[in-house]
Amino acid sequence: MIITLDPKLDSRCAIARQEAIEAVACEHGLKVHPVYGANKTLLCIVGEFNGQYSTLLDNFQAMEGVESVHQVMEPYKLAGRTSHPDNTIVEVGSVCIGNGSLTHIAGPCAVESEQQIRDIAHAVHNAGGHILRGGAFKPRTSPYSFQGLGEDGLKMLRDAGEEVGMPTVTEVLDTRDVPLVAEHADMLQIGARNMQNFGLLKEVGETGMPVLLKRGMSARIVDLLMSAEYVLSRRNGTSNVVLCERGVTGFDTQTRNQIDMSAIPVLHNLTHLPVVLDPSHAVGVREYIPSMALAGVAAGADGVHVEVHTHPEQAFSDGKQSLIPEQYAQLVERMGVIHSAVRDLYVRH
Ligand code: PEP
Ligand code: MN
Repeated sequence: MIITLDPKLDSRCAIARQEAIEAVACEHGLKVHPVYGANKTLLCIVGEFNGQYSTLLDNFQAMEGVESVHQVMEPYKLAGRTSHPDNTIVEVGSVCIGNGSLTHIAGPCAVESEQQIRDIAHAVHNAGGHILRGGAFKPRTSPYSFQGLGEDGLKMLRDAGEEVGMPTVTEVLDTRDVPLVAEHADMLQIGARNMQNFGLLKEVGETGMPVLLKRGMSARIVDLLMSAEYVLSRRNGTSNVVLCERGVTGFDTQTRNQIDMSAIPVLHNLTHLPVVLDPSHAVGVREYIPSMALAGVAAGADGVHVEVHTHPEQAFSDGKQSLIPEQYAQLVERMGVIHSAVRDLYVRH
């Protein structure tokens, strides 16, 4: 970390402040390398921080005579590429995400009935889908909207997945439901609204199960990575977290959210974790899903997550953004063409 001393200090005060900082650094076994510029003095603190980095950063920031403290190391040690240069491949059942192939995650917004999820599972599977999604616990803005079928929904999703041979992913909303959801699903989803529910992240981390971590609609990329860090910090070296860009809040109302397409290459640069795109929740309008899905593949996404419904006009939630099976099948084919055209661009050596 680099500390800049307040340039308004006279030289006697500056020396006293520098000594005080050196004393704190020394207490923690750290070294200080001063750089004396014409107008500013910089103190570079180096050494082994032993998990004290952010506390020390705050402490130095609070010391008298300190103008600013600059963080040099990334705060997401486990999620960051610096300490883990190779791409992580996340296994969900027999499906691998992040191995250079393009993973298709699809299904209805919510599991509505046994028949509905079975029909959609078959449609998604026939279209070339790899992982079946479907919400059993729904994070609805209104408490009066459909909240999901709960445990029954989890079982229906699991059975439908087993019938077609696809692993499943479903959202867990509450720490109390983690064991139940973990029992029935192959991958746990943390929704955008819960991205910074740290208790839930820790609990989900403890299960050791693969996690689909969605970016909060007002979260910065660094916040998403810090949330991944919460999950990873509860594991013994397994990095099975997949990050999902699903749009952020913007000022335009033509689409539900604004897709941050550049988050895909930025995340690939910063982290070894796979990155998937969810154009459905990002855009919220069926008509725009295919173009955004294709753009996501072109931008290097490791997978695309799409809502599909056999009868969108009857859907309990998000029918407006759900593709019908024929549209999804056509999209999967087109995504394959784009993926073949760009995959060499994203191979990491
Ligand atoms: C979902 O995938 O079911 C969902 C609610 O998405 P998000 O958390 O991204 O809004
Ligand atoms: Mn939805």
